[in-house]
Amino acid sequence: TALYLTGSNGLKWHRPLSLQHVFDIKTRYPNAKLVVGNTEVGVETRLKNLHYPVLVHIAHVPELNILNIKDEGLEIGAAVKLSELVKVLKLVIDQRAPFQTSSCRAILEQLKWFAGTQIRNVASVGGNICTASPISDLNPLWMAAGAKFHISDCKGNIRICAAEYFFLDYRKVDLASNEILLFVLLPWNSRYEFVKAFKQAHRRDDDIAIVNAGMRACLEKKDQKWIVSDASIVYGGVAPYSISAIETNKFLLGKHWNKELYHGSLEVLEKDIILKDEAPGGMVEFRRSLILSFFFKYFLWVSHQMD
Ligand code: FAD
Repeated sequence: TALYLTGSNGLKWHRPLSLQHVFDIKTRYPNAKLVVGNTEVGVETRLKNLHYPVLVHIAHVPELNILNIKDEGLEIGAAVKLSELVKVLKLVIDQRAPFQTSSCRAILEQLKWFAGTQIRNVASVGGNICTASPISDLNPLWMAAGAKFHISDCKGNIRICAAEYFFLDYRKVDLASNEILLFVLLPWNSRYEFVKAFKQAHRRDDDIAIVNAGMRACLEKKDQKWIVSDASIVYGGVAPYSISAIETNKFLLGKHWNKELYHGSLEVLEKDIILKDEAPGGMVEFRRSLILSFFFKYFLWVSHQMD
């Protein structure tokens, strides 16, 4: 049943069981903080001393827990836990033509290195997106994969924002205080579209990234050559938020997928994603080399797919 608790410290905890109920609470308390797994909010309140007098636990709202296999892609509710996402990704990868699930496989691969089992069992897709951490492991992939975020205000007006445009600044997203993330639409891939995830951390298991990335290129055959018809190269851990290598993406368009493309891309990429010597996070030389080496790995991987 829906639950409402008030703590001795005045803190209010709501547990709505429908989307309408979430909207009602948000309308009444515009600054109410949504929470699912509490793996970000908990760190903020316990370690950063932030106070949220009204918390809304949305983990039990059915509309936010959808997992729908649609013609255009996979719809993933914002409150879906990462371990549930793993299950559905494995299912669709089994069921659909391999080329359609390149993004699904990249996300599944990245989830293997995302925190530990305990965190994945409670942490949500929407919690990771809306926190907009600069080292989120999934946000570069949603962006590269061309995911669409479905957002609703408290009156039920829905708008769609491409993942690419959702992250605005350090932990700042394109979401008004009366809006919530409903679900993510992850599109299926086309025939020669290749998506790959990258993550470098200190440890392989249960560690946050130093640099991560999501990369997608779509190729088509013209006059016996593989030509890039679309590309999206996105990095995390190199700026205050996940960022697209915009100039590199432009450079790749229309190019023949060969060694010249690789060398040319590196030159553009070096000027496109710039890490200043004093960039927060340190290890600047290492991170610069990771930016380039991820692209090298991606180039080799795609080339191998075309053999
Ligand atoms: P919560 O803490 O419940 O919420 C986070 C934020 O999202 C809050 O501001 C909340 O209001 C907002 N929010 C939630 N749902 C919605 C919605 N539907 N609409 C609008 N706003 C919403 N992250 C990584 O990327 N990679 C890692 O490897 C990783 N490892 C971690 C390891 C540990 C030990 C911990 C504690 C965290 C780690 N994280 C990692 C970060 C964190 O686990 C993820 O970001 C997680 O997905 C957050 O989900 P949550 O449900 O716990 O978020």
